[in-house]
Amino acid sequence: MNKIGTVVNTKKTIEENKFHIKKKYGQNFLTDQFILNKITDIPQITNETLVVEIGPGIGSMTEILLNKAKKVLAYEIDKDLIPILNNNFKNQNLILINDDILKRNIDEDIEAIDNSFDKIVLIANLPYYITTAIVMKILEESNLISELVIMMQYEVAMRFTSKPSTKDYNSLSIVIQFKTKSKIAMKVPKSVFIPIPNVDSAVVHMKIKEKYDLEPDNLELFYKIVKKSFTQRRKTLVNNIAAAFNLPKSQIIDILVELGHSETVRGEKLSVSEFVELSNIFNREIF
Ligand code: SAM
Repeated sequence: MNKIGTVVNTKKTIEENKFHIKKKYGQNFLTDQFILNKITDIPQITNETLVVEIGPGIGSMTEILLNKAKKVLAYEIDKDLIPILNNNFKNQNLILINDDILKRNIDEDIEAIDNSFDKIVLIANLPYYITTAIVMKILEESNLISELVIMMQYEVAMRFTSKPSTKDYNSLSIVIQFKTKSKIAMKVPKSVFIPIPNVDSAVVHMKIKEKYDLEPDNLELFYKIVKKSFTQRRKTLVNNIAAAFNLPKSQIIDILVELGHSETVRGEKLSVSEFVELSNIFNREIF
């Protein structure tokens, strides 16, 4: 079969099928075989692996994945792409679901595939406006997926992977780095997409941690403290937390000092482990 992910073939597929690219679904199709190969080479996929793909589009990445994996479970929201995909791949190893990924229970869909796999990897070139929602859904709900390889807006990739005391570090960085070991695997220029998006992209490789470095005693409180610590970035941690939990500032200052922080410290200074420590002391001494 001709490679689908080339400028010529992507244009041809779009024209032949009279397909109208839909902005509302964040459709920017990859047209560079070198980049497609590099992305699909990031995780180790064997012929025993299940790959979950979100948003196959016209199937440029799907084509490569089907050659590597045991099965590909792909979710595509756009019903107009389903006949194109079915026509491109008459392959029983492709399980195509025409639905919004945010409405699915992914683990149930995986369990419905009557097969065993050496591992389950998720790969996606995601619509930028729902990247965070999709990643958070997977991290919160899936016990079966062990690795994610996700193309996203470069700025969001920086947030996912940034370190304390940098401008991109915020509550999202902490939650992602608490749950995963993440790094930017490659930067991708906007010129390799049809249509060309406004922003550059990056592929983030995320391995889900089997064991946390430091375990929060109260996970819900940990998440709440992390979120509230960044409510107003320019405010100190004490001010943000005092306002959020309706607590006297002196009580919070005592805890910060006990942990070796200055009383004027801002949330962006604390590492993931330091937030876990903070939430554990809050859990023991206040709540
Ligand atoms: N993977 C293809 C590629 O790299 O050329 C297409 C990537 S395009 C950026 C995003 C794809 O996700 C589109 O095919 C779009 O229709 C699909 N999509 C958008 N929102 C979705 C959702 N909520 N659930 C499933 N698929 C979605």
